[in-house]
Amino acid sequence: MSKLTISCGDITRLAVDAIVNAANCSLLGGGGVDGAIHKAAGKQLFEECLQLDGCATGQSKATKGYLLPAKHVIHTVGPIWRGGHANEAELLASCYRTALDIAKELNLKTVAFPSISTGAYRFPKELAAEIAVKTILEHPFDGEVQMCTFSPTDKEIYQKKLDEARSQNN
Ligand code: ADP
Repeated sequence: MSKLTISCGDITRLAVDAIVNAANCSLLGGGGVDGAIHKAAGKQLFEECLQLDGCATGQSKATKGYLLPAKHVIHTVGPIWRGGHANEAELLASCYRTALDIAKELNLKTVAFPSISTGAYRFPKELAAEIAVKTILEHPFDGEVQMCTFSPTDKEIYQKKLDEARSQNN
C-alpha cells in the first residue's frame, strides 16, 4: 500500500520522481496546472507530447520532466463533471489508478498528484478527494504519494478524507 501525505503548493516545484499532470485529451497543453507544467518543463515536453497521439479520458501516459525538478510527468486525462451520471467517478478513479500503474512499472518511489478535474473540469471537491484518497490507498504502488493541493481549503478537504479513511481502516 502506498504512503499518502497531503501538501499545499505549486506542483511544478516538487523534486519527485514524477508529478502527475491534469491534462486534456490532446496532451498538448492547456490552462491551470497543465499550462503551469508545460511552461516550467519547456518546449521539449510539448515535442514529446506531440508524439503520444493524445490520451483517452481516465487513461495516463508518461514523458520525461525536462526542465522540471521532477524526473517524469505522468499525464492523465480527468473527466469533465457533467452532473454525476456520465461515469465521472469511475473515470476519475481510473486516472489515479493508471497513473500509479505507470509509476509502479517505471519503478518510481515518489509521485505527486494535483487535484485532478476539480478546476476547469468542475468535479465536486469533496467527492474528488474521497475518490483520490481511496484509490491511492488501495493501489499496490508501494512508494510515497503526495497530494499537492493548490489552496489551504483544498488541503483541508483532502486531509479530512485521508483522516477518515485511516480511521475506517483502524
Ligand atoms: P482540470 O481541468 O483537471 O480541472 P485544472 O488545472 O483546471 O485541471 O485544475 C486542477 C487542480 O489543479 C485545481 O485544484 C487547481 O487549483 C490546481 N492547480 C492549478 N495550478 C496548480 C499548480 N501549479 N500546482 C498544483 N495545483 C495546481
